Amino acid sequence: MKKLNLIFLGPPGAGKGTVAKDVVERYGVPHISTGDMLRDAVSAGSELGKKVQSVMESGQLVSDELLFNLVKDRLSKNDCTNGFILDGFPRNVNQAEDLDKILKELELSLTAVIFLDVSEDEVVKRISNRRVCPKCSRVYNLISLKPKKDTQCDDDGTPLIQREDDKAETVRKRYQIYIDKTSPLIRLYRDRNQIITIDASGTVDKVDEIVFNTLEELRQD
Ligand code: ADP
Ligand code: AMP
Repeated sequence: MKKLNLIFLGPPGAGKGTVAKDVVERYGVPHISTGDMLRDAVSAGSELGKKVQSVMESGQLVSDELLFNLVKDRLSKNDCTNGFILDGFPRNVNQAEDLDKILKELELSLTAVIFLDVSEDEVVKRISNRRVCPKCSRVYNLISLKPKKDTQCDDDGTPLIQREDDKAETVRKRYQIYIDKTSPLIRLYRDRNQIITIDASGTVDKVDEIVFNTLEELRQD
């Protein structure tokens, strides 16, 4: 059976993290979200966190060099030998080339790139209603994935917050950066015959179903 060495590609707010969590539950592969890793560094007040905080809050991309080291260290860990989901990396052509180098060095190969295709209007709607638990990082949505109690985390009761970079003025900017820097990766991986496009405009259950079916087929290949 094939390993699931995957990239989840798509605009911010497409639902990459949401689907990834469900895939992790089913297949036990680690979810490597560079956004989560960087936010953890900011919360911890580490050297890395101090370096990236203002860049992240403004919606810009953190330097490729920092990402290279972060991803290389993470993919070197033992739990990645049985599969992984990269979410939020690579985010530009240079990072895709960096990933090629990292995978080669670690003797890993990519199984597929899952592209979650959603319109700009839908991602803006999803992001503006996204709320997160500052304690456990669980992600909710005020419309589609509501917490049981108004604005509290179901798991630990912590009041939910809106990410600084999810505020309306930053969201459009992040989408434009996605179009300019990240969307060329669709072509790059299409040319390599590695991309699978998923219609991610439906409900979470619908998107999960399409992704699970796709991953089953990949595993059997
Ligand atoms: P990404 O990781 O791609 O930035 P998230 O997984 O955080 O996106 O999802 C963005 C927001 O949209 C979250 O509030 C999430 O709860 C919600 N969401 C995710 N998938 C769907 C979906 N299929 N339909 C509606 N809302 C969704
Ligand atoms: P995300 O959680 O994927 O939406 O990422 C949140 C923010 O983290 C981005 O807007 C960037 O500032 C930063 N970030 C995450 N991944 C990367 C990456 N691969 N390259 C550069 N910056 C990144």
